[in-house]
Amino acid sequence: MVEDEPRLRDVIARTLRAEGYEVDAEGDGAAGFERAVTGAYDLLLLDLMLPTMSGLEISMRLRRRSVKTPILMLTARDAVDDRVAGLDAGGDDYLVKPFAFAELLARLRALLRRGQTGQPDNVLKVEDLVLDRVRREAVRGDRRTELTAREFALLEYLMRSAGRVLTRDQIIMAVWPNDFDGGSNVVDTYIHYLRDKIDKPPAKPLLRTVRGVGYVLGR
Ligand code: CA
Repeated sequence: MVEDEPRLRDVIARTLRAEGYEVDAEGDGAAGFERAVTGAYDLLLLDLMLPTMSGLEISMRLRRRSVKTPILMLTARDAVDDRVAGLDAGGDDYLVKPFAFAELLARLRALLRRGQTGQPDNVLKVEDLVLDRVRREAVRGDRRTELTAREFALLEYLMRSAGRVLTRDQIIMAVWPNDFDGGSNVVDTYIHYLRDKIDKPPAKPLLRTVRGVGYVLGR
């Protein structure tokens, strides 16, 4: 991991170690590059804004030297241009700060799996619903809808858990960062927004309410 913010670096390292990963952490871009260029790692967690060498630069240099370690980028800015620049520079996935640790761990596992299979993961699909993770759009039939950051995070979580009933508490833990205090009806509100965007007739409803429990998408 290359992350210059000491508190974030420590909490990520501690969380990952608690999950059983071995972690080497650097706070400086050039030092991080020197370690990563050895190719000795299964995954590189890379902050973009770093002293001495930016995350984009590290990523480009590694790819130029044919180091194929999967890269998960951490970015403070949530704009299509930044995400595209990160992926163009050789990043495999990105996570926008602040993020929920459940999501960091899920992305990490997905990247490690992909490292074994070579499967791209920028498009998610459940039945006829497609989520474009780069453009942050949901596509259903010929209807293409842009999503807000929160709608996107919620839909992505539902799609990755397709067919599984999720409780409101599970959804809050996965989608809303730690500072959340708005009560569980915020989930219902956002489900309502999503239905309006992806489940409008004549499309067959994909998002089902399971009375007294929560929600499930698909199957
Ligand atoms: Ca930084």
